[in-house]
Amino acid sequence: MNLHEYQGKDLFSNYNLPVSKRKVVFNANDVIEACNEISGSKWVVKAQVHAGGRGKAGGVKLIETPEEGVKFAKKWLGNNLITYQTGKNGQPVNAILVEEFTDIERELYLSVIIDRDSKKIVFIGSSEGGVNIEDVAKNRPEKIIYEGVLFGDSSLPDNARNIAKVLKLNESQTIQLISMVENLLRLFVEKDLSLLEINPLVITRNGDLLCLDAKVNIDSNALYRQLDLMEMNDESQQNPQEVEAAKSDLSYVSLDGNIGCMVNGAGLAMGTMDTIKYFGGNPANFLDVGGTATQERVAKAFKIILKDPDVKVVLVNIFGGIVRCDLIAEGIIAAIKGVEVNIPVIVRLEGNNSEKGSQILSKAKIKIESINNLAEAAKRAVAFAK
Ligand code: GDP
Ligand code: MG
Repeated sequence: MNLHEYQGKDLFSNYNLPVSKRKVVFNANDVIEACNEISGSKWVVKAQVHAGGRGKAGGVKLIETPEEGVKFAKKWLGNNLITYQTGKNGQPVNAILVEEFTDIERELYLSVIIDRDSKKIVFIGSSEGGVNIEDVAKNRPEKIIYEGVLFGDSSLPDNARNIAKVLKLNESQTIQLISMVENLLRLFVEKDLSLLEINPLVITRNGDLLCLDAKVNIDSNALYRQLDLMEMNDESQQNPQEVEAAKSDLSYVSLDGNIGCMVNGAGLAMGTMDTIKYFGGNPANFLDVGGTATQERVAKAFKIILKDPDVKVVLVNIFGGIVRCDLIAEGIIAAIKGVEVNIPVIVRLEGNNSEKGSQILSKAKIKIESINNLAEAAKRAVAFAK
């Protein structure tokens, strides 16, 4: 689960990490009051979306009067911001962060991730911040440090000093970084984060470190014990089908192809998608209806798949293990009758009572093609999709 920058900065602030004076607004006219509260003579207004690259896309602006900020907010609130990190339609802007302007000396990069190979939390630092870190990693890898750390380890200050060298910090900045690394690590562990990125971390004209951006990603599997963070979730930033699927406990991931997939079991779903790809098609989604492919779940899954306007055909691939294929077949028929499906549906049933299941499907008075061989079923789906 992702947080907005303003939420991430509140979290930073709770962990004594340096952030600018700021205020989030949801109405354009509130920018004036926010600027007055922050005080000063220059501010930065920032569109809040779950994506980076806002600066280049016009979603971050320096303003010299509160009125300019109102104009910026009116332009973005209620509209979508498209950056290189969003989809082609962009992400809706519902909040604007107003910040005190910072005079910047240098822009650095700092992030925290989990490295499963070394079983460590790794800090990534670079003197080349503000820009696309992937480009730095590719073109100037020597400018990046990967420093593995252990929580509660006494060598953490040494780890921070190693990072400080690559960031070219002086001694007083290094001391600031040491406490920053300690606080970031505590935040990362205590809040079950999977990613934390500060790009840019800046050195101000006064020579101090400041977190100018905040990207925070929480491990969704830990949300049951991070209820305060769970409440910060902004559904408007997520794919609507994914939100609906999550509520029904279906594992659904939207993709950019046009063949809808309904499968029971994550491994089988991956295999089905591979098979579609192998025959030249493109899956519109990953969907695992789970081991209990009941009629209700199948119906819900059809509804979610069909909400994607790109879907031209649905391929159902169900393996009857504990559940019997004849029951699944009846479930599919009832679901299709209930949902009103106007595109071709290809069903492949295998396993327990699969023959009986196929017979039921072929006798049903609805447009379903029952194909028992997965390769043939996938080829047929690809043909319909083209
Ligand atoms: P992103 O483009 O979505 O990653 O948004 P950022 O929060 O990283 O802002 C983009 C860029 O705007 C930063 O890299 C800075 O160069 C610039 N910026 C943001 N806030 C300030 C500020 O207070 N002062 C100055 N001088 N530049 C800023
Ligand atoms: Mg940034």
